[in-house]
Amino acid sequence: MSEWQQSWTDAAGIRSVRGLFRDAFGAEPHGVWASPGRVNLIGEHTDYNGGLCLPVALPHRTYVAMARRTDRRARLTTGLEDGRTWSGDLKEIAPGSVDDWVAYCGGPAWALRQAGVDVPGFDVAISSCVPLGAGLSSSAAVECAVGLALTHLAGCRRDRDDTGRAWLADVCVRAENEVAGAPTGGMDQAASLRAQAGHALLLDCLDGSVEQIPFGLEAAGLELLVIDTQASHSLADGQYGARRASCDAAARELSVATLREVTDVDAALARLDDEVVRRRVRHVVTEIARVTEFVAAAGIGDWTRAGQLMNASHRSLRDDYEVSCVELDVAVGAALDAGALGARMTGGGFGGSAIALVRSSSADAVARGVRQAAAARGLAAPVVHRATPSAAGECLIEP
Ligand code: ADP
Ligand code: MG
Repeated sequence: MSEWQQSWTDAAGIRSVRGLFRDAFGAEPHGVWASPGRVNLIGEHTDYNGGLCLPVALPHRTYVAMARRTDRRARLTTGLEDGRTWSGDLKEIAPGSVDDWVAYCGGPAWALRQAGVDVPGFDVAISSCVPLGAGLSSSAAVECAVGLALTHLAGCRRDRDDTGRAWLADVCVRAENEVAGAPTGGMDQAASLRAQAGHALLLDCLDGSVEQIPFGLEAAGLELLVIDTQASHSLADGQYGARRASCDAAARELSVATLREVTDVDAALARLDDEVVRRRVRHVVTEIARVTEFVAAAGIGDWTRAGQLMNASHRSLRDDYEVSCVELDVAVGAALDAGALGARMTGGGFGGSAIALVRSSSADAVARGVRQAAAARGLAAPVVHRATPSAAGECLIEP
């Protein structure tokens, strides 16, 4: 069996989502849009602390085929599992009225209406090759693809410049927070809508500003691997909220608006009584500094240093923030043993994915190594992807 899992080509995604649309609604869609999942290079659990993070958009995308309706109804269908459909009035898509996948897929309709967009009735089909619940942000991919489609059909082309894309990303964050009820920060939607191919996106979560960081792995003879451990992170929702709550409490205790303002970590730690809160703060503050250092190291092609920073990030997430798990630790350890320059868990944690920065010549050995290590521990076989830094969401077939 191949060690590698491929993403879909756009042609395959379009074929899949159009077929789904035709089967569900017996008609042709008016247009097709796509938006990617993301993987974060470094800067984990920093977004909701006003910090820095550095995601890249994946070649894995969620495809949406949509048609405008003449009434105010919505019909949703997804290729998830055996396929599911939902239909109702547009007004029914609101916080507390829909849950599960309908909240993620329909949520942007509510958030756009809140933002003053006259959202038309619509039929939508959704087809995706972004692994679900793997920490690669299938949730933002679906929100952003639906958000792009709905704004387009509403005649509001805010996707033509970064300012408009930042606005749409915020709308999609609101959908995720308020309709799906997931208290996530802004990194995922920013990556899905604002990333550029061949670049990592340096996102300053304090003001939402971004910088495109050239990330020319190929020229450096390197690859970024994503190791999906297959360990589900969905049970960890309460843990995510708990980490956020401790950061907010620590910020109050330190009289700062966000932990981003903490510059002297030792002085801040000395002012905190609780040992656990101290470790949470230490992770956040040192992790933000690692992002800046990683960008500098990547800028001068010092990949050894970049790898070391990834390793330090993993240790901090494992020991101080306590969001790793055995599957992630095994994958990271095995990747390093097999010659990776650096490896770390990525995403929220408690399962999901790890990343490894590897020389192209050792990519196969690393993929094999992580699979063998998981097997030796009786863990599920990880699925390994190559993460070429890819483009943000876009319209693929104009309505
Ligand atoms: P992640 O974003 O890391 O993949 P989340 O738990 O944040 O994991 O989001 C996963 C949820 O997003 C799924 O349980 C589902 O409700 C929704 N979702 C993602 N992709 C799709 C899709 N293609 N079709 C329908 N719902 C989806
Ligand atoms: Mg998500």
